Order: sequence, then C-alpha cells, then structure tokens
Amino acid sequence: MSTDAVTDAGADLDAIVVGAGFAGLYMLHRLRGMGLTARVYEAADGVGGTWFWNAYPGARCDIESLEYSYQFDEALQQEWIWTERYAAQPEILAYLEHVADRFDLRRDIRFGARVVSAVFDEGAALWTVALDGGERATARWCVMATGSLSSSNLPAVPGLETFEGLVCHTGRWPRSGVDFSGRRVAVIGTGSSAIQAIPEIARQAARLTVFQRTATYSVPAGNAPLDPEVQRRVKADYRAFRLRNSLMPIGADFDHRDVSALAVPPADRDAEYEARWRRGGACFAAAFNDLVISEEANRTAADFVRAKIRAIVTDPVTAEALSPGHTFGCKRLCLDTGYYETFNRPNVRLVDVNRAPIEAILPEGLKAGGEVHAVDIIVFATGFDALTGALDRIDIRGRGGLRLKDKWAEGARTYLGLQSEGFPNLFTITGPQSPSVFTNMVPSIEQHVDFIADCIAHMRERGFRSVEPHRPAEDAWVEHVGAIAAATLYPTCNSWYLGANIPGKPRVILAHLGFPTYVERCRDVVAKGYEGFTFA
Ligand code: FAD
Ligand code: NAP
Repeated sequence: MSTDAVTDAGADLDAIVVGAGFAGLYMLHRLRGMGLTARVYEAADGVGGTWFWNAYPGARCDIESLEYSYQFDEALQQEWIWTERYAAQPEILAYLEHVADRFDLRRDIRFGARVVSAVFDEGAALWTVALDGGERATARWCVMATGSLSSSNLPAVPGLETFEGLVCHTGRWPRSGVDFSGRRVAVIGTGSSAIQAIPEIARQAARLTVFQRTATYSVPAGNAPLDPEVQRRVKADYRAFRLRNSLMPIGADFDHRDVSALAVPPADRDAEYEARWRRGGACFAAAFNDLVISEEANRTAADFVRAKIRAIVTDPVTAEALSPGHTFGCKRLCLDTGYYETFNRPNVRLVDVNRAPIEAILPEGLKAGGEVHAVDIIVFATGFDALTGALDRIDIRGRGGLRLKDKWAEGARTYLGLQSEGFPNLFTITGPQSPSVFTNMVPSIEQHVDFIADCIAHMRERGFRSVEPHRPAEDAWVEHVGAIAAATLYPTCNSWYLGANIPGKPRVILAHLGFPTYVERCRDVVAKGYEGFTFA
C-alpha cells in the first residue's frame, strides 16, 4: 500500500519501474528517497541490464570508466576504484551489483519477471502491469527503464533451427560462457559488439569466419590499466570533471576542437588525426567540428582511417573489403583492441555477404554465395531493435485503449523523449527522441531520472493525479528532433540510429542530437511550470 496521500486506495504501489540496469536502479533509489513505494520488474536473474546480458568475450565500455559511472552519490564515486581506462563487462556488472547492495535496492526488485503488458485505467488514473506468469500490480506511475539497446535482433536466416552446433547472440550471452578453444566459429556482423569479440574469439578458435555486411570505421581504444594518478586527480575534483563532461555529449578531456577540418592544411590535419589515433578512443571524432556536417570534411577522416586499414591489413583484398565506403561516424564509431590486425591471422577469414549472401543455415554450418562453411558455433553480433524495440515488445495501452505500438507505427512520437501524449504517468528513461545513444548514457540516465522524480514530486505537492504532454508540444518536439538530424550527415547511412537495421521499421532518426542543449531545454520547461505538459 502507498505511504502517500495522493495515491488512491487500491493501488498496490506508487510506482512500477521496468528494468534493473543503470536506469532502473537509480530510479528506484530516487523514488524510495521520496518516500514512495516502488517495485522494479526485471526479466533477467540479476541487476545490470546491458552489463548482465552482454557478457561476450571482449565486452567493455567505450566511454572512459571514470565518466561511464554514476555521479549522484559522492561517496559512491569516490570509493569505487576502476582498474582500466575502459572497464570490462565483469567489472561494470560488479559495480552495478555493488550499487544495488550499497543502497539496499534488491529487496524491491523482482527478478525473472518479464512485463508483458501495461494498461492505463483512465478512471482511476492507474497503470496495471502484468507479468508473463500472469501476476499483476497497479501503480500511479509506470517508468520504462527497459533500455535503448536491450531488444536483441536475431535475423531470420532460413534453416537456423536445423543447426546442430551452438547459436548465441552477443546481447543474450550464455551465463555459463562459451569455450571457443579448438572450435570452428562464424561471427555474423561487424558492429561494436563484433569488433570487441572478434579478436578474443580469434585467439581461442581453431578457425574464425567473419561475415560482414557493412565494413566498419574503428579506431584504437587505447585501453590500458587506469593510471592511479589519473584516477586520483579526477577524484580530487570529480564535480568539475563531471561538469566539463556535461557540456558535451562525451569526453570531458577530449579537446573538442572548434575548427573545421577544411580550415587547416592537409599535413596538419593528418597530424591531428594521427595524434588522436595514437591516444586512442572516441576523441578521434572530436578532432574537428564539422565531421558529421560537411561531406568534404568527413571524407578527410574517412580517408585517414582507410589508409590505416591498408597499412595494417597485409592482404590487399581483405584490406579493401574491410575499408568502409559510407560516411564516417554516421554509424557509431567503434573502438577496438587489435580488430584490423586480427585479419592478418592465418585462422581468420572475412566473407563479404554483399558478394556472397548468407543463403541458409544448415545442420553443419552456413551456406553463403554457394559455399558451405562448416562451423561448430555461430555468433550473431547483429545488434538490437534500438530505442523502440523493448517498448514494442510490451503491450502498452493508454487512454481509450490506444496502443503505443500503433501510435508509433510511422515512428516514435514523444515530448522530450520522456512521455507520449495519450499515455499519462508513463515515462521512458532515455527513450526515443531523447539524446540517449548519442551521449555518455549514464549522465543522460541520471538527468532523466531526476527529471521524472522532480515531476512526480511536483504532482504530489499539488495533488495532481496525472501528467502527459499536450499534442502541439509533442508535434513540435518530433519535428525539432528530425530537423536537427536533417542538418547532419546521419541520415546518409543505413544505421540503427535510423531503425534501418530492422526490416520494416520506419526510417526516422531515433534520438536527439545534442546533450547540453537538451538539458537546457528541460530546465527551461520546468522553469516555465512544465511547459508542454498537462496536469490533471
Ligand atoms: P539496460 O541496461 O538495457 O537495462 C534494461 C533492462 O530492462 C534489462 O535488464 C532488460 O532485461 C529489462 N527489460 C526490458 N524489457 C523488459 C520487460 N518487458 N520486462 C522486464 N524487464 C525488461 N553506453 C555508453 O554510454 N557507453 C558505453 O560504453 C556503452 N557500451 C555499451 C556496450 C554494449 C555491449 C551495449 C549493448 C550497450 C552499451 N551502451 C553504452 C549503451 C548501454 O545500453 C547504456 O549505457 C546503459 O547500460 C543502459 O542502461 P539502461 O538501464 O537504460 O538499460
Ligand atoms: P550493430 O552496431 O547494429 O551491429 C550489428 C552488425 O550486424 C552490423 O555489422 C550489421 O550490418 C550486421 N547485421 C545485422 N543484421 C545482419 C544480417 N541479417 N546479415 C548480416 N549482417 C547483419 O550492433 P552491435 O554491434 O551489437 O552494437 C549496437 C550498439 O551497442 C553500438 O552501436 C553501441 O552503441 C553499443 N555497443 C557499444 C559497445 C562498446 O564498445 N562499448 C560494444 C557493443 C555495443 P549493417 O551495418 O549492414 O547493418
């Protein structure tokens, strides 16, 4: 039962949160801190979200550990010691488990609990959430912390069910791990997950065949043990470091240069790229201010990476196949540890599926371009139905029985990526049309959680029972998000940012470009009495 007078008698809880990753854990902590009763439903058997599921070899963050972590609690950020520049999956999972224990969160989390529907009762202004086992609970507020990259994409390859070996997806990695030693392995996909897994698998496997649809731009991560002196310096004034980070999407110490790539002589430009290549990390993309705006500027970065690939990969045919032809950075830039070098190994082979399409999976392997590749293990590194996928998999019904999936059939429609009209009291954390995947996601998550918690506090203080955006505000936001993207090179690629990786998904930009401007806009909305939201 609720502890708060606003919640109607009859509601089981004040708030239900779906998902126990970075977002769900902090949301629960905030709700509890406000004296609300809350429960988290999590499909997995543990906390961690992304870092629970993506336990493939080589998985690690590509934003530096000191930034890819919570800042809401000073003691927490001081006491946790990161061991590597980019923490590996087991370390990030251990961190999130520590957070769950430190703030005593587990007692309000139901594990192994998949939410299948969420239905709004207009009369009572309550959400009823149902689990796959049939259990139900009601609450005033429902927060979807279901993740932007949590709904794995397994392409429908004919014959998959006939395969006699092991099939795994990087985003649903077997808890018991996978032993590749002496095995013949196929990896399908060459995005961020594959880039990390391929060098590790190649070291163990007898043979590795990589099936590539689109070649990838990748720069060295430059991962290394984290220098204790660097960690000490950041922690000495973590607040200032976080503040610097909040003024840009990622990279507090990136040296974001506010100069066009075309404004410097070619030799100086290449020297800049070279310095950043050596330093490692996504700071490469911050070398100039117009790399995702001007095609000509973009080509300078693309040419630099292609030259690196030709210099690293000894077989010219493989080097050519690994060289991307699309716009640099319009698919997420990958950070690797020895990815291109892996193709110099005698046990690794690249298959370009544009020339040799995967026709079928057979009991003994894959058939591509007429050739049968006998393998023991197939790894699908084929990504996610990003941003909308996890929400689409839940039957969410708002006012008048409106289905969220139907409302979003032509593309997501939200206000600030936080709410959608017709779905009162339903919030999404880093949902579609918020900056989410274009940012360091942990600060983005914290900003959303704080916004939602403050909005709920605002409602309780004034006795409101429901909040939702009003249509003109939502329409303007959808247009605004599209217009920003249209002024960049992002629409030029078939990326998951546009939903282009999922057959039949509408091709629209799924996230808002720009974090500081977004935060500013949210502050302004609140200052103007939650402009664009309707309370009742
Ligand atoms: P998630 O961690 O995805 O958690 C969502 C949870 O909701 C999951 O546990 C899921 O099981 C649960 N859930 C979903 N639907 C239901 C349902 N119907 N019922 C019950 N439970 C449900 N971002 C960065 O900023 N930097 C990085 O370096 C970075 N690296 C990444 C590496 C990988 C391999 C991947 C896949 C993503 C990475 N990301 C990175 C993005 C990452 O997803 C976010 O940074 C962050 O972890 C998201 O946290 P979250 O809590 O919002 O979602
Ligand atoms: P992804 O970037 O979507 O890559 C999927 C890969 O599979 C692509 O190469 C894609 O080719 C290919 N593919 C998809 N369907 C295919 C099919 N039917 N046949 C052949 N190939 C197919 O997915 P991801 O690598 O899992 O990464 C998703 C996101 O998660 C990243 O962009 C990043 O945001 C995050 N992530 C981060 C890290 C990190 O370094 N911290 C690691 C992993 C993931 P196309 O390009 O042609 O579609």
